[in-house]
Amino acid sequence: MAQRIKDDAKAWQQKVRPANSNTRISWGGQVPKPKAAPVQTGAADNLGLNSERLRAHMVQRVRQLGITNEQVLGALAQIPRHQFVDQAFASRAYENDALPIGYGQTISQPWVVARMLAALCEAGVSQRVLEVGTGCGYQAAVMSRLFGQVFTVERVRPLYDLARSRIQALRLSNVQCHFGDGMLGWASKAPFDGIVVAAAGAAIPQTLLDQLTVGGKLIAPEGDKVQRLVMVTRSSVNRWERVPLEAVRFVPLKPGTQV
Ligand code: SAH
Repeated sequence: MAQRIKDDAKAWQQKVRPANSNTRISWGGQVPKPKAAPVQTGAADNLGLNSERLRAHMVQRVRQLGITNEQVLGALAQIPRHQFVDQAFASRAYENDALPIGYGQTISQPWVVARMLAALCEAGVSQRVLEVGTGCGYQAAVMSRLFGQVFTVERVRPLYDLARSRIQALRLSNVQCHFGDGMLGWASKAPFDGIVVAAAGAAIPQTLLDQLTVGGKLIAPEGDKVQRLVMVTRSSVNRWERVPLEAVRFVPLKPGTQV
């Protein structure tokens, strides 16, 4: 793992990066109240007392980039993002950037996390939400502050193990992690009011669309070289309505698992 992170860091410096989008948007909407109790970050975090101030800066930046949903901004302010990246990147954890997390994957850019979660919140999603692509666990942790129950699936075993231990250490008890192919969703926990996909496939898998409740919403990047966020609403048992949103750049959605 350590060597992979170093290799990733080198590629990063050479700017060979699967960066997430930094598209700017303006996004208005209501201001619902946060639901959950404060996160216990613990005394042993590696940026110490500075992390709160840095986090406030990051939230301010995301706000400047057009995210106005106070519930989402409040959730970003609560989660210690530096605890979800390798120590080599901790000092950069509060920049509005994607960063390597090993295995050729990245932690999503804060703006893109905020964009997708604001879209779900503003569409009225609040209860059972599935994330495909746990990665380091950061987005799932942010989701735990916004939704009643969070289910998250990761296909790379070491990433799954690490994310699960981080989520447990933060005592985010409304998050359940699963190791498996998220293109198949999580059938035993379905249906979901919301689904957020953190990796891009050529098309959104029908299996995921089938695991939405009627009225449920899915947000996912779609496309190969050119990707676009798409919001899909299941408007009846056999009908899904798609709204294309802005261009983005995500790591690929892949079938199967990697141990
Ligand atoms: N949610 C993360 C983003 C991780 S990057 C965050 O908080 O920053 C996308 C992740 O999706 C990678 O970890 C990758 O391994 C995972 N992934 C890709 N295809 C997948 C699939 N079919 N099932 C589950 N996870 C998948």
